[in-house]
Amino acid sequence: MSSPTTQALALPRNAPYLLATMPELPEVETTVRGLARFLEGERIARVAVNRPDLRRPFPPDLVQVLTGARVTGMGRRAKYGLIHTDRDTTMVFHLGMSGRWRIEPEVTDKHDHLVLETAAGHVLALNDARRFGSVDLVATDQLDAWGPFAKLGPEPLGEGLTPKHLRAAFADRIAPIKQMLLDQTIVAGLGNIYVCEALFRSGIRPDKEAGRVSLPALSKLVPAIREVLSESIAAGGSTIRDYAQPNGELGYFAASWQVYGREGEACACGAPVQRFVQGGRSTFWCRTCQK
Ligand SMILES: [Zn+2]
Repeated sequence: MSSPTTQALALPRNAPYLLATMPELPEVETTVRGLARFLEGERIARVAVNRPDLRRPFPPDLVQVLTGARVTGMGRRAKYGLIHTDRDTTMVFHLGMSGRWRIEPEVTDKHDHLVLETAAGHVLALNDARRFGSVDLVATDQLDAWGPFAKLGPEPLGEGLTPKHLRAAFADRIAPIKQMLLDQTIVAGLGNIYVCEALFRSGIRPDKEAGRVSLPALSKLVPAIREVLSESIAAGGSTIRDYAQPNGELGYFAASWQVYGREGEACACGAPVQRFVQGGRSTFWCRTCQK
């Protein structure tokens, strides 16, 4: 267990990070990996809940259940982080719009709503200014049946996501493929940025009817989804290692996208990247590269 470095966060100058301010699956994954360095195998010595609720109330028994519990493992499902304990209970957190964990914060912040201190003396604060996040306690052996998880599709980085799964889910559907990929019951945890980038990499128009996308095209899409997520997780991992902020915030990092946030800029093919609004969200794509 090593402490994070304390260099200033350096954001790539050309990254459209202002558009990408919400934690997505890669940010949750890197947050979980960052927290694991301080929590896995450790006992939680002290728990402070500093307000009654985030998006919904904190579990009334949160302090009682977590105090003295040992963290037996950490994980992620869709955009939820999982902290498994030896009390047969898992603390499930969602970062919402603005949530982040602060590692060893030097000063307390008024938005540090939940603070965990390990027996080894590490302090981890869940900070959420807008409070769209959530914290729940779920019996570990009941996680799959827990409300928000019960209807989730397969993990995009797991074995359940295959071209055949997508073909079956899209069969006869006239909705645009981009909308279908954002449907959490078809694939869990995919957000707007990653869908735009994966469709670009696999050469599929975002407005194509899902039911008309061929199996060969879906066979390009599945690895493209995995690549764009994996590259972002790798970038986030290096962010945590090399650029942890002085107050050790986890949860956000910048990556550079090929189409997302690049309206009017030249695609690699030379054509300008286009933007249009689909289901209330911006879609970025290249008319030349995506058919
Ligand atoms: Zn292009």
